[in-house]
Amino acid sequence: MTSQTDFQQIFNTAPQTQASAPGRVNLLGEHTDYNDGFVLPTAIPQHTTVSLGFSPDDRHHFYSAELEEWAHFTNHELVPEGFVSYVLGCIRVLEKIGHTVPPLNLFVTSSVPIGSGLSSSAALEVATLRGLRSLLHLDLDDVQIAKLGQQAEIQYAGVQCGIMDQMAASLADTDHLLFLDTRSLDRKLLPLPSQAEILVIDSGIPRSLATSGYNQRRSECEEAARLLGVPALRDVTDPNIVKNLPEPLNRRARHVINENNRVLQALKSTSAEAFGALMNASHASLQHDYEVSVPGLDRLVELLQKTPHVFGARLTGAGFGGACVALVAAERAESIGQNVLSSYTHTGYKGRILVPDLGMV
Ligand code: ADP
Ligand code: MG
Repeated sequence: MTSQTDFQQIFNTAPQTQASAPGRVNLLGEHTDYNDGFVLPTAIPQHTTVSLGFSPDDRHHFYSAELEEWAHFTNHELVPEGFVSYVLGCIRVLEKIGHTVPPLNLFVTSSVPIGSGLSSSAALEVATLRGLRSLLHLDLDDVQIAKLGQQAEIQYAGVQCGIMDQMAASLADTDHLLFLDTRSLDRKLLPLPSQAEILVIDSGIPRSLATSGYNQRRSECEEAARLLGVPALRDVTDPNIVKNLPEPLNRRARHVINENNRVLQALKSTSAEAFGALMNASHASLQHDYEVSVPGLDRLVELLQKTPHVFGARLTGAGFGGACVALVAAERAESIGQNVLSSYTHTGYKGRILVPDLGMV
């Protein structure tokens, strides 16, 4: 069943417009975006679709197929929490820049796993904003959509996110890596290393400490930048400078400096082997210097790294649980994923393959 017919069944009328946006996985450049640094995500096949029409009354009517959740409210009513805060956040940020958004019928459906670090939230924001752009004939480009989506998430969903996720949902595709300078927003689409494809496995470990850990790392980085006398850690390129910092700020800063250098190095690495080596180094740095890994993620990464035809593997996303990404030989992602998953679950963990999309999400 398509989301169009779902909308029809729920609202008893056809949608006026429909828009989609993909989830993303970050290959290199972890915990760099809030340090004004460099990132290298790609879009994944799973995407979120938002169908829209004008409401017949003075209330918004939102429905999420995945959450099986309704929300009905007028524009003046206090907003409920949860998924509505992301959607209404998009409406509010448009209103703040002078657009009028009438009450809407809105239907969301998605194949992006929710809460697994593949950025279902940015996919929802970008799909919603694209839908509103089309419905209301707004003159917004893809970078503006990304920035508005980020503001919606920060101001209305209460998540202090960087710009990577929304830029990836808005500008990346599944055939390329999106190199992004998160300070200038300069960007470039690059081919994936040749003869390679992407494998993403969910560790099955909930990211329970992710928010507090993320906020703590953010403030450690800000403090390190302040002590080094630079606006952001992006402005440092020599990792030796961190010996002037106290523990653990020295290791936090070293991760960010080395990680930014790795992204820049990856732009020059045409071979999958060289790219994979950078991913392995990134994991070691996230594990020891940034300390955002957990034993389950280390186990999964270790299993991936020692499997033939795997060029490199690391945790992806904020850490403390969530998913691992690997670069593997073309056409082998599914079989490698299944083998690794079987060894991983043997040791008591529960994981699943997220990319390639095996249609189980
Ligand atoms: P992720 O890593 O998937 O982005 P987040 O915690 O940042 O995890 O965002 C997940 C939240 O985004 C969900 O709790 C929900 O509020 C919202 N969301 C994402 N996708 C959907 C969807 N299809 N339907 C409703 N809400 C969604
Ligand atoms: Mg998110």
